[in-house]
Order: sequence, then C-alpha cells, then structure tokens
Amino acid sequence: MHIAIIGAGVSGLLSALELVEHGCSVSIFDQQQAGRAASWAGGGILSPMYPWRYPHEVNTLAQHGKRLYQQLNEKISPVTGIDFEINESGMLIFDEDDFEIGLNYAERYQEPMQACEYLQREQLEQVNPHVGFAFQHAIYFPQIANVRNPRLLQSLIQYLKLHPKVQFFENTPISQLEFHNGQVTALISADRQKFHADQFVITTGAWSQKWAEPLQLDIPVRPVHGQMILFKAPENWLPTMCMNKVMYLIPRQDGHIVCGSSMSERGFDTTPVDAIRENILDASLEMVPELAQFPIVQQWAGLRPGTPEGIPYIGQMPEVRNLWANFGHFRNGLVMGPASAQLLRQMILQQPTLTDHQPYSPQRLIKHSALAIS
Ligand SMILES: Cc1cc2nc3c(=O)[nH]c(=O)nc-3n(C[C@H](O)[C@H](O)[C@H](O)COP(=O)(O)OP(=O)(O)OC[C@H]3O[C@@H](n4cnc5c(N)ncnc54)[C@H](O)[C@@H]3O)c2cc1C
Repeated sequence: MHIAIIGAGVSGLLSALELVEHGCSVSIFDQQQAGRAASWAGGGILSPMYPWRYPHEVNTLAQHGKRLYQQLNEKISPVTGIDFEINESGMLIFDEDDFEIGLNYAERYQEPMQACEYLQREQLEQVNPHVGFAFQHAIYFPQIANVRNPRLLQSLIQYLKLHPKVQFFENTPISQLEFHNGQVTALISADRQKFHADQFVITTGAWSQKWAEPLQLDIPVRPVHGQMILFKAPENWLPTMCMNKVMYLIPRQDGHIVCGSSMSERGFDTTPVDAIRENILDASLEMVPELAQFPIVQQWAGLRPGTPEGIPYIGQMPEVRNLWANFGHFRNGLVMGPASAQLLRQMILQQPTLTDHQPYSPQRLIKHSALAIS
C-alpha cells in the first residue's frame, strides 16, 4: 500500500515511520524543509502541563509519550548517530492553586507519569538548589521528562531518508486534492505536479484549516503563536524543569535552558515579539534568579495547531474513504505524537487500536450547517 503524507512535522514523520515499519511505502511532502515548524519550536515536555486541566483524551495519548520515545531512540539512534536525549529531569510546579488538585489527581488516576509529592522549602532546595526564594513550596513530578525535539526531528528525518520505502518531497506545498468517485486520487502541488497514492494523510498542523473549503468541513484549527528564549548555563546546571503560571524552564543536558512560553494569535507570523520576550524573561528570573548571569543565545516562535479542547483529529476524514487526519494537537503534539501515529496506523491498516478511537474521530469536523440539512 502506498501512502502520501502532507506535512513533515512530528505528526507526519512519526506516522510515516509507523506505516513503513508495517510494510507500506510512503511519500512525505512539506511546503518547507521537513521538521522546521511547530515540532521544532516546541519545548518537548513529555507531559501535558498541569494534566488535570486537560481532557482525558489528551492524557490517554500523552501517557505513552516517554516510553515510546525511549524505545524509538534506542531503535533509531544507532542508525542515525543522533541521540535525541530524553532528559528525566522531573518537574517542579509552583502554582499554589494547583497543589491540592494536582495531588488529588495523582492519587485518583495513579498514572506513573503523574505521580507527585508535596515539597516544603527545605526538600525543594535538595531537589533544585536554584529556585528563587519567592517559592517556599512546590509539587514535584519526578517522572516527567523532556525530549530534545530538534534532535528528535533530525533523527527521524535521517532515518526515514535512509529507508528504501520512503520518498521525501521538501519545499513542495500541496495546494489541492484530486477526487474521483468519493476518493482522493492524487495530491497536486503548487507547481501543478500530481502525486498518486492509495491512501492520503493530512498532518499539516497549524495550516490544517486550509482543507476546510475543498472538503466542505468545519476545521477549527488556528495558528497559536508561542515564543521561547534559550539560555546557556554550564552542563547539567539546572536539575529539574520548573513551571509557574504556565511559564516553564526546560533544562537540556548540555546546559541549554529553554524558557517559554506565550500564547497569542498573530496569523502565520512567527516573528518574536519584544514585549513577550520581556514577559518570559521576568517569569524565568522569578523562578530561577541566578539565570540572570547566563547569556540568552537564541529566541524564536512557532505556531501551535490550536483546537478548541486540544483533542487532536485522528482517523478517517468524513465522506472520503482513503483520506486520513492526524492534526490539531495544540500544546501537546510532541508528547501525544507517538501514540497518535500508532493509532492512525492501526486504523489505516485495520488493526486493533491502542485505545478507543471514537473521541478523536474527524467526524467532529462535519459542518453543523450540513448536519442541520441532512
Ligand atoms: C512554543 C511552543 C512550545 C511547545 N511545547 C510543547 C511541549 O513542551 N510538549 C509538547 O508535547 N508539545 C509542545 N508544543 C506543541 C507541539 O510543538 C505541536 O503540537 C506539534 O509540534 C504539532 O506537530 P505537527 O506535526 O502536527 O505540526 P508541525 O510541526 O507544525 O508540522 C506541520 C507541517 O506541515 C507542513 N505543511 C502545512 N501545510 C502544508 C501543505 N499545504 N503542503 C505541504 N506541507 C504543509 C508545514 O510546513 C509543517 O512542516 C509546543 C509548541 C510551541 C509553538
């Protein structure tokens, strides 16, 4: 079976990997270089921030993230020579309003990834000696890890480019779908080339609204700008991730510390904004004042594929038998990536699914006006 995938972010690349490893051949298209959009810009925290604020459907896919990435790294790093570093740093959350609800959530659901404990200042200092005095206590999630996502993408792209059943088409925007008898027969690129396949997958992240008109669907995906700054501290300087008021610090093993993030709607513009940089800087220095001594070495912004509840669309598109979705992961596309790709592959190849696929169904995209008529 030959499968064409539109979009080479983490959703498209992991979907491609799942499908080729199960005997399919894959062509993967991106309008720019592969792996340079949201999946590159993200932080790589392998848990939804404050899991209790997210629907069960998000946590169900997210809980597999860390384990599946560990397996993937073991499998592909010997081939690609790239270790994408799953840093088991744990996470401290300082928001006092969330202490009780977080502890209750952990106890109620008993998910290993969300096991947590309450720390007083003295214990907090043992876990992370750099936390500012503004914080006298925290809840600590020792199991939460982060992945170095730019390296993850590099490793995936390299592995797939070496695979005999994969073809890459970068800098190839797909502008149209060709239909015949209720099926897609080809993708048409902006320069009018046609690409045929048996099955077609949309993994176009923040750009997915584009397909609403040709498919006559409501696709409520909008680009949500998120900005980051990057400090360079000495190797292993910050022992844990830190989170306060939806702002976070993510340490990489070589001393880089990713700090973010913001949420605003600015269309498809990814220019960093000075005022947002100041907000991120203030929040970062409040959590860890000693960061002020280290240089900021980079800043950037990316576009999250924002959806109303953050529940992605995974499965068969309405009315078109051979068209599939894996998009709309909003703030959690990296952590949900491996399980989302598995679920998609299981549905395309008619295999048993890792979880009930109904809550992710793209049937949710059917226009309310169309429903009213029928
Ligand atoms: C600042 C920030 C921090 C984040 N932090 C985290 C985090 O800590 N943990 C986490 O799990 N998630 C995080 N996220 C969210 C996560 O990055 C996204 O949910 C995820 O990357 C979405 O992946 P994707 O492959 O669907 O989209 P993308 O990575 O955006 O990929 C979509 C691709 O489709 C291509 N494309 C679009 N239209 C077309 C077309 N017509 N033809 C061809 N190609 C096309 C684009 O060029 C792009 O490469 C963060 C995001 C941001 C911005």
